[in-house]
Amino acid sequence: MTGRKRIEPPHRYRDNDKAVGVGNAFWDLSERNGLAGIVAELEDGVLRTVDTGHEFVNFTCCSYLDLDAHPAVIEGAVAAVRRFGVLDHCIPRSRVQIPALLELEASLGELFGAQAVSAISAGVASAGLLPLIASGHLGDGTRPLMVFDKNCHVSMAGAKAACADESEVVTGGHHDLDFLEDMCKRYERVCYVVDGADSLGGYAPVVELAKLQDAYDMLVYYDDSHSVSAYGERGVGYVRTHSPALDERTITVATLNKAFGTSGAMILLDGYPKHTLRVIERFAGALCYSQPVNTAAVGASLASAEIHRTEELRTLQARLRANIELFDRHVKTEQSGGAYPIRVVPMSDETVIDAGRRVFEAGFYVSPVFFPIVSRGTAGLRVMMRAGQTEEQIRRLCAVLIEVGAQAASQEAER
Ligand SMILES: *Cc1c(COP(=O)(O)O)cnc(C)c1O
Repeated sequence: MTGRKRIEPPHRYRDNDKAVGVGNAFWDLSERNGLAGIVAELEDGVLRTVDTGHEFVNFTCCSYLDLDAHPAVIEGAVAAVRRFGVLDHCIPRSRVQIPALLELEASLGELFGAQAVSAISAGVASAGLLPLIASGHLGDGTRPLMVFDKNCHVSMAGAKAACADESEVVTGGHHDLDFLEDMCKRYERVCYVVDGADSLGGYAPVVELAKLQDAYDMLVYYDDSHSVSAYGERGVGYVRTHSPALDERTITVATLNKAFGTSGAMILLDGYPKHTLRVIERFAGALCYSQPVNTAAVGASLASAEIHRTEELRTLQARLRANIELFDRHVKTEQSGGAYPIRVVPMSDETVIDAGRRVFEAGFYVSPVFFPIVSRGTAGLRVMMRAGQTEEQIRRLCAVLIEVGAQAASQEAER
């Protein structure tokens, strides 16, 4: 109106007009077709919708080892609330804390062979840590150029604007080592921000990155949420299994909410002195001013960590692998043959919603992904394998997927 200023958004690192404008259409279409907004109760691994009683098995759940429903994990949660007597003693841990978090961190630290710091989620950990890295306070004091991989998870990409207020931020190509080396030659220090395991398969080039870390003292910030527990000896994940640079140049975060089967997240550090850990506790965003992992989640996580120390983990990992292989024998995808539990059954943008609805009607939930959530030509039904799925469920799902795939192909041919 009269002379009042209208704001022109800078949109340097985010753009909600675009995100909501483009993304909402995807969600509306999914919901109209009954593939989003589902409410269902869980019993013995089967979901039953509250409104119609439709039963289905979830094939898009990230609890890859089904530890979230393990009796020891559930008992661990209950026992810890009783033992500590509170869900949370509400005060920043830097002032006063009950020993719950310390117990959890000692256990995770021993299990993963690192200094572990807990956080309520991986997203909260990244939002707090990345600006501290950008300012050089978590590192050697040098402000690094922050290079975000263009495919890095939204929980890391969301920290770009805050990092840009402390340092320079660029978005680099996916696993673009040449670009990284070029930046290493031009900048005093570089920090590369990347997923350890990508959500659609594929792993970070940890060995090649370690060479850059050696040559240029580059920092790498990994989010290994998708491979912890499901991958490696005692479930240490992809990065800690293969990276030769497990020292202060490598910082790893991972959620405890996926294959680990509980709640919260961990930050894994090597070679940092105690005073740096204090800086994290005091200045890493919500880690210092918001609630910590509560005692139920601590107890569940302690129990899950115990399972990781036993033969049972190997058995669950082997079952997951066998389930993935069974799926691959029946349905070919670009991910076939890989160790990673996610598969995308390709469909066109036009046929994928209808196919997803038919699969759901047949008793399985798989999530349709299509443009604009993924780029054109890469639409499909996303399937996630778990250790607890039965052979029979997998065979039936595969038969349905083959059937809807054939229908989709003939619809395509008619178009
Ligand atoms: C699932 C996921 C997250 C989210 O973890 P929270 O602990 O729920 O914040 C973060 N990063 C990656 C790579 C993920 O796959």
